[in-house]
Amino acid sequence: MPLSYFTPVAAVGMLAAVFFAGAVAASFINCMQIRLQKGEGVWGRSHCPGCGHTLSPLELIPVFSWLALRGKCRHCGERISARYFLTEVIFGAMYAGILLRFGLGWAALEYTVLFTVLAAECLWDMATFEVPDVLHLLAAANFLLFLGTHPAPLVRLRDGFFTSLGFGAAILVTVLIADRLLHKETMGGADIKFIAVIGLYLNWAQMLLMLIVGCLVGIGVSLGYRAGWKKAFPFIPSLSVAVYFCVLAADPIIQWYLGLLEPALH
Ligand SMILES: [Zn+2]
Repeated sequence: MPLSYFTPVAAVGMLAAVFFAGAVAASFINCMQIRLQKGEGVWGRSHCPGCGHTLSPLELIPVFSWLALRGKCRHCGERISARYFLTEVIFGAMYAGILLRFGLGWAALEYTVLFTVLAAECLWDMATFEVPDVLHLLAAANFLLFLGTHPAPLVRLRDGFFTSLGFGAAILVTVLIADRLLHKETMGGADIKFIAVIGLYLNWAQMLLMLIVGCLVGIGVSLGYRAGWKKAFPFIPSLSVAVYFCVLAADPIIQWYLGLLEPALH
């Protein structure tokens, strides 16, 4: 149901609610990523890494707490990384964008879960240059879980399977050849798995657009941050931005492009 069906107040209320839900999800996933990387337990109260003070619920409100504390621990003054604030705002905006595009319904829920998993992959890739396989599996499971909410589930399953297999295999072969020619690893295994999983969700035209946009974003990011990522380059964030862009906006662009080709075909 598009948001235009609702009164403006209700629509803004829903957008604010999903923004906050996104910020809460970001806060949780950030915390999990950091704890698992440090080898700490997943459960337990959050604490300041500087003085060990256990954070009160008021200090744990996504977005607002970081702003209210001006990015510093209330007790020892240790700086709290802007990573928390930025991730929470990005997740919130990402959730709101999905609701704006799809309105209230199963599609919005399916893509919200997908992009939560992809955003988790981005956090892991940026921190460790690796992505746990369980995240790829979650993204694939989400596709299967929501199949029944689509008008023709078996057609979607067949198309998804072949797009995934086709793009996964094509990228794998290209990377193997490039690795041999250049004598170095050109693309990580996680990137190839990522592309195969996204093939479940996008059709071949959207996949091509996604790869073009992903490479353009990746080139832009690598130019800006070359100093920080010397030994490896996390490509999944660039690809995820491209997937988000394609899920929300690919169809009008592809139609416009095919429209340009139309006179040439006749
Ligand atoms: Zn502290």
